[in-house]
Amino acid sequence: MVTLKYTEPELKWQIDNISCQTAVSLETEPLTSEPGFVLWQKDIPKEYWSLGGKELVDRINAAKAALGSRLVILGHHYQREDIIQFADFKGDSFKLAQWAAQRPEAEYIVFCGVHFMAEAADILSGPHQKVVLPNMAAGCTMADMAEPDDVLDCWAQLGEIGLADATVPVTYMNSTASLKAFCGCNDGIVCTSSNAGAVLKWAFAKRERVLFFPDQHLGRNTGAKMGIPLDQMLVWDPDQRLGGHTAEELVGARIILWRGWCSVHMRFTVEQVGAARAKYPGVKVLVHPECTYEVVQAADLNGSTEFIARTIAEAPPGSAWAVGTEINLVSRLARENPDKLVFCLDPVVCPCSTMYRIHPAYLCWVLEELAHGRLVNHLVVEPETARWAKIALERMLEVR
Ligand code: SF4
Repeated sequence: MVTLKYTEPELKWQIDNISCQTAVSLETEPLTSEPGFVLWQKDIPKEYWSLGGKELVDRINAAKAALGSRLVILGHHYQREDIIQFADFKGDSFKLAQWAAQRPEAEYIVFCGVHFMAEAADILSGPHQKVVLPNMAAGCTMADMAEPDDVLDCWAQLGEIGLADATVPVTYMNSTASLKAFCGCNDGIVCTSSNAGAVLKWAFAKRERVLFFPDQHLGRNTGAKMGIPLDQMLVWDPDQRLGGHTAEELVGARIILWRGWCSVHMRFTVEQVGAARAKYPGVKVLVHPECTYEVVQAADLNGSTEFIARTIAEAPPGSAWAVGTEINLVSRLARENPDKLVFCLDPVVCPCSTMYRIHPAYLCWVLEELAHGRLVNHLVVEPETARWAKIALERMLEVR
């Protein structure tokens, strides 16, 4: 039970004094003022490069109105405020994937998230539905850490030492469609941070070992929650023969963890947990399982973004929450829960820089093109890849 600690004036004072973390503006800078624009998709017409906030809002709303019920906009929890305000549905990748699978009526699904999420929506949606990713450069650094060739090489090496047949490949949702397809055709499965525990139970009921990629931390934290000792979870280094282990060591492993991580969640530290507890007595520390094992152990609770949002929404007024996840979500939770103290564990945390690439100018561009009957940034997964990836995704959707 959360300790009731802060009165309303105290909360207001605290929130005002951590405003660098919780104040998020709907103000939109033109694309050309964004320092990251050099890395973003450049073939957006130049007329969109200098549009400011008000004009973008008006034009996006006009295009949405013109498209009506043919359009649905999905927004991931980590999206910036000036995007999430247009989302018809918001959620984590699991919830949004379920949404795409269950709503055949939407002709255009504009996915405000990152590349792998839009791929999953394309795979799970119907053949008449078109998925659009507003900025094709919105990827995920964690997903990029598991190169399909490296994973295939790992699988081949496990086969050489006789372990592949006793191993279930499990990929986190944050991976390319080709890796989901790899899991689909090798009796494997996809998981999200919402259902990783249930997925690992499913996998261990089939075989004695799991190859988990790309996020070592979600794999380790989930395995530890199931009681698997840390020394039975080995990290596979794709640059070394047998991932840097002996065959005997791998035989003893219950989970082989890919050497991947999320750069956003790696910023949270045990020291920050200690500092939050010292500064705000009674605070509850709530983190995402992409954080390190040490941070998860130091926290009070951990779970998916849906779990984080629900836990804070249901918490008693006056309670205090130090949250270890992406800053756009933490800021939104702080605003949506003004009767509680909600702040980010990391005082200088940055947003997910790839999610941030979904700038309103891109949303405006793709919607106006759709309103004129033209499809741009249409994301299509190659059919054979989609077929196998769908098998792994559907296994995931069936596991509770
Ligand atoms: S927060 Fe991390 S895992 Fe999520 S999209 Fe950004 S880089 Fe990828």
